[in-house]
Amino acid sequence: MRVRNKPWAKDKIAKYPKIVIKNPQEHAGNWNRLFNRSAPIHLEIGTGKGKFVTGMAKAHPDINFIGIELQESVIVSALDKCLEQELDNVKLLNADARELSEYFAESEISAIYLNFSDPWPKSRHEKRRLTYHTFLAQYQYILDQNGQINLKTDNQGLFEYSLESFSRYGMLIKNISLDLHNSSFEGNVTTEYEEKFSKKGQRIYRCEAVFRD
Ligand code: SAM
Repeated sequence: MRVRNKPWAKDKIAKYPKIVIKNPQEHAGNWNRLFNRSAPIHLEIGTGKGKFVTGMAKAHPDINFIGIELQESVIVSALDKCLEQELDNVKLLNADARELSEYFAESEISAIYLNFSDPWPKSRHEKRRLTYHTFLAQYQYILDQNGQINLKTDNQGLFEYSLESFSRYGMLIKNISLDLHNSSFEGNVTTEYEEKFSKKGQRIYRCEAVFRD
């Protein structure tokens, strides 16, 4: 995602260490302590400007949510939403999802959301796709036994690739929708990209995937 540089973002993020958590490796296995309660933890990877993670946190106050986002200039908008809405069940990480298994202990997470992930269409960039098998191995490690991956995208190529990648990894794929907004799916919380693409008339694809024992 190309973003306007916000030189002040770093300082703003640093002002809210209870929301944007530094040194996530130090909290592996103890994330619920930061939320001051024991609850299932749901993780959104590539959380962008935070519409989804904050919307989900509001809709599901019984769940602890964590959003990971690489770019400071983007995550700062997610921080603003957390502050405006005074949500105490969202934490943010300004970090790279390639290191996920350093940030979380085995089975610490109950659900993962991949929303409108960068498609990286060139085959030489396959390793960067968030559904490449090296990412799946990390998701398998941090997800608990019933944990599932929830994927939404407007990108047909990434969707097909992800279905194939899940399948090749031996995962069970469930509830495939080829047109989410014209389906019977209930409780959809939209993301910034989802709003943008569906306004342009693009279809939204969705599926769930679980690891088999
Ligand atoms: N999920 C948001 C939405 O639907 O509006 C943002 C989608 S945007 C296309 C993808 C986001 O994923 C970008 O903000 C990008 O910085 C972030 N991202 C990509 N690779 C990442 C990684 N390895 N770790 C953390 N964030 C990542």
